[in-house]
Amino acid sequence: MSYRFIIAGAGVYGSATAWHLARSGADVLVLEAGEVASGASGGTGKRGVRGSRRAPAELPALRLAYELWPALADELDADTGYHRIGSLNLFEEDEVGMRGGEDALRAWAWRQRRLGVPTEALDAAGVRELEPEVADSISGALWSPFDGVADHTATTRAYAAAAARHGAVVTEHSPVAELLTDGDRTIGVVTAGGTTHLASEAVVLLNNVGAAPLVQSVGGGHLPFWSMYPQALSVRTPSPSPCRHLVSHQSRALSLKTLDAHTLMVTGGWRGVRDEADGSGRTVESAVRGNLAAAVAAYPSLADAELLTWQADRAETYSADDLPVVDTVAPYRNLFVGAGFSGHGFAIAPAVSLLLSRWLLTGVRPDELAPLGYHRFTPAVSRSAS
Ligand SMILES: Cc1cc2nc3c(=O)[nH]c(=O)nc-3n(C[C@H](O)[C@H](O)[C@H](O)COP(=O)(O)OP(=O)(O)OC[C@H]3O[C@@H](n4cnc5c(N)ncnc54)[C@H](O)[C@@H]3O)c2cc1C
Repeated sequence: MSYRFIIAGAGVYGSATAWHLARSGADVLVLEAGEVASGASGGTGKRGVRGSRRAPAELPALRLAYELWPALADELDADTGYHRIGSLNLFEEDEVGMRGGEDALRAWAWRQRRLGVPTEALDAAGVRELEPEVADSISGALWSPFDGVADHTATTRAYAAAAARHGAVVTEHSPVAELLTDGDRTIGVVTAGGTTHLASEAVVLLNNVGAAPLVQSVGGGHLPFWSMYPQALSVRTPSPSPCRHLVSHQSRALSLKTLDAHTLMVTGGWRGVRDEADGSGRTVESAVRGNLAAAVAAYPSLADAELLTWQADRAETYSADDLPVVDTVAPYRNLFVGAGFSGHGFAIAPAVSLLLSRWLLTGVRPDELAPLGYHRFTPAVSRSAS
């Protein structure tokens, strides 16, 4: 059977891109190795929808995502768990001293406002109006009221269901094992079960850690990626959770999201390890302890919290410059990849998937995706010469 577009992966990117394509009337087949949202886009807790401290290259997409998130649940006709609760990036006295103090805080706030992330620099009293239980050491914060949280699993499933309602075929337990090529074009895929599917227009690899091996298998350009297992903890607090917003820290690896009155998700860049026996990810004790210590340093009352869950089972591709690659893969004109989201891809998924679908449908790359192009790994001299 032939489809106009074949997508590998039904995480948030594959599912959302399929929805945009299908509702524009295109034939789409999504092949998913496991189940919808069985990769980085699934699992317990929530994900931050954060513009604060995001790299400028991602901000054109983030600004669009800020517009799209509030209406998404209605468009998908399903709850996404999205709440625009605002974020605080906490600054701490001693660390701030080394990094420029209040001047640094104001400089960051200015830069973010200029780039479209509404942000205010708060002093110690201002932080406590929003987060009364922060540690005495917290001397200021970046306050970004447009940031929020969403339920990643529910959002991903909602995209996949909406794509299917518009006629996309979403097939689970069908890993793409091989790409079929003809000259400078991809013409289809073969699944691990041996089924061949042909693509008349493009093959789109939105399969996270599975993307680079497929690209490599057909001699495509090198993707400077590696895989990691971000750690996610949840704790139960004896008193109501002290954290009212999406909270991160300028100098500690910490991100906090309240899930319900007494449950708090604790992340922030700590990592698990790959279990070589079965290829799964698992937590390491020192990282669990380190993450909890960072949480207690920001909110002392969390010293009494009970560790509920500890996981590092969702693999994610990281890229050498912490930015995704959303582009075609040379030498193939119609092989697209969107991967390397480096632990912060969920927030911008509504925007990047919409922009990618426009590119696929029109053949013209939207300007917002240019900073995520592969050309950034090409030396400037040869770029200007070519
Ligand atoms: C613990 C944790 C916390 C995070 N926190 C945040 C946050 O707060 N904010 C934020 O913005 N982002 C966050 N992220 C990152 C974000 O979740 C990811 O960037 C995003 O979900 C990636 O989506 P994806 O669709 O590219 O990948 P995935 O969801 O991994 O989807 C890829 C899919 O492809 C499938 N697949 C793989 N190989 C093949 C193949 N050969 N054929 C077919 N299918 C295949 C996989 O089974 C998988 O379902 C976090 C990630 C983790 C793990």
